[in-house]
Amino acid sequence: MSLFQQTASEHLRSLESGDISSVELTRAYLDRIAEVDKKIGAFLRVDAQRAIDQAAQIDAKRRQRQPVGRLAGLPIAIKDILCQRGERTTCASRMLQDFRAPYDATVIARLRAADAVFLGRTNMDEFAMGGSTENSAFQLTRNPWNLERAPGGSSGGAAACVAARMAPLSIGTDTGGSIRQPAGLCGCVGLKPTYGRVSRYGLVAFASSLDQIGPLTNSVEDAALLLETIAGHDPLDSTSLDTPVPEYSQTVNQPLSGLKIGWVREHFGPGLDPEVESAVRAALGMYKSLGATLREISLPHSKYAVATYYVIAPSEASSNLARYDGVHYGYRTNEQDMLAELAAERRRLQEAGDQRGLDDLDPALVRMYRRTRAEGFGQEVKRRIMLGTYALSAGYYDAYYLKAMKVRRLIRQDFDRAFEQVDLIAGPITAEPAFKLGEMTGNPLAMYLVDLYTVSANLAGIPGLCLPCGRSKSGLPIGLQLQSPALAEERLLRGARMYEQATEWHKLQAPL
Ligand code: GLN
Repeated sequence: MSLFQQTASEHLRSLESGDISSVELTRAYLDRIAEVDKKIGAFLRVDAQRAIDQAAQIDAKRRQRQPVGRLAGLPIAIKDILCQRGERTTCASRMLQDFRAPYDATVIARLRAADAVFLGRTNMDEFAMGGSTENSAFQLTRNPWNLERAPGGSSGGAAACVAARMAPLSIGTDTGGSIRQPAGLCGCVGLKPTYGRVSRYGLVAFASSLDQIGPLTNSVEDAALLLETIAGHDPLDSTSLDTPVPEYSQTVNQPLSGLKIGWVREHFGPGLDPEVESAVRAALGMYKSLGATLREISLPHSKYAVATYYVIAPSEASSNLARYDGVHYGYRTNEQDMLAELAAERRRLQEAGDQRGLDDLDPALVRMYRRTRAEGFGQEVKRRIMLGTYALSAGYYDAYYLKAMKVRRLIRQDFDRAFEQVDLIAGPITAEPAFKLGEMTGNPLAMYLVDLYTVSANLAGIPGLCLPCGRSKSGLPIGLQLQSPALAEERLLRGARMYEQATEWHKLQAPL
C-alpha cells in the first residue's frame, strides 16, 4: 500500500514498530506538498526545515527508548488562526499579516507535548468568516477533487491538505460549520466537538460562544486519536468543561448495538440536491442493515437557524474584532500619509473659512483607527462588523440580538427533545456538492444559506461529525453529518466508524 493511502493511525503503528522513521514520513509529506500544493494552495506557509528537525528529535527519543507522546512523529497542519509561539498567525487577514504570536494556544501546547510534527499553516477565510476560503486575503485554495471548485470553508486549507494527502492530520475551527462543511466538500472526516470540550485559549476569536477547535482527518479512527489529544479542561479557558476525556481511540472500533438514528424531516425539503439526498438516504439504509433503527424526527425551529446564527455570530464578531485598532495588534495605516492627509484637509478648510468643518475634523487618533480598519479588513469581515454593530445598537438590540438569543434556546430545546428519542441524528452536511470558485463571491446571502445544516450544532453547543458517504456523477464528494448530544463524542465516533468500516468512501483518493 502506498504511504499516502494510509491513515494517521496506520502511520503511527509503523512509527511505533520502527518500519518508518518520523524523518522519512515527514519528508514524504513535505515532498508531496512541494509537488501537489502548487495546484491546490492549501498551505499559507510550510516550514520544512523545522519539521525535519522536530521529526529528527522525536526519532532520537524513540531510539533512546525515552517516553514519547501520543502522536509521536506524526506530521500535522494547523489552520492559521491558532497562536503558535514565534510563528506568524495571520487569520488570512492583512490585519495580522505580520503578527507573530507570543505564546502557544493550548491546543498547540498539547500537540507539542504529544510530539506531533508541525508542517505548516493552512489557508482559511479571513478571520474564519466564510464558507469557501475565497475570503482569504492571500490566496485561493482549490478543491482536490476538481480544481475549478471551492474546497469549502472557512477551514478550506485544512480540509484540502488532508484530502490531497499533503498531511495525515490537520486542525480546523468551526463556528458555524467551518470544519464539517469543508470536510464534506473535500471528502474527508471533520469533527466539531461539544462547545467547551477543547480549550479555545490562543484561538483568535470570531464568535466566542460558538467557536470550537477540532480535527480534520482521513478516517474516523484518526479523528478519535486527534480529539483525545487536544480535548480536556484548561484553566486558561473559563468555558472549557471540567470533565474527563475518554480514550476515544480505544473504543472507536467497537460498534454500537441497539443504535437509534434520527433523520430530520426538515432536512429533506426543497433545495436538497437529488444526488445528495440519495447518497444520504443510502447511508441511512446502510445503518439499518447494520442493525440500527431509523426514526423520523422534527427540529421545528431549524428553519430559523441561519437567521439566528447570522445575528449572533456577527454580533460577537463586531465586539471581538474591536481589538484590531492599529495600536494593540497587527496592521497600522501609514501614519505619515495619514497626517499629511489631515494637514491638507485642515488647510483646505481654513482657506475656505469653514469653522464648522474644522470643528468636525476627526482627530489623528480616530483617523488612524478608521484608516487602519478600512485597509486591514476585507469586505466580508467589514460586512460582519457592520451587521453585528447594528444588531447590538441600542434601538435594535431587543429586535435582533435578544430575539436571536431566545430562538437559540428554542433550537437547543429541539435537540434536547430529539435526543430523548434517538442516539444520533444523521443527515446531509450541505444541500449540494462543492460549488464553483467565484460562483458565490458576489452573493453573500447565497453563501450564508450554504450553512443551513451546520449552524444549529454550534447554536446548541452539540458535537457534529462529517464523513464521506458518496460521490456525485461528476465525481464530487458527498458528506454525511452525524450529531450527538453534548459530550457524547464517544458515541458519535463509534457510530461514524461503524459506517466507515462498512463502506469504502473514505478510501477514495482525489485524482491529482
Ligand atoms: N460559514 C459560516 C460563516 O461564515 C461559518 C464559519 C465558521 O464556522 N467559522 O460564518
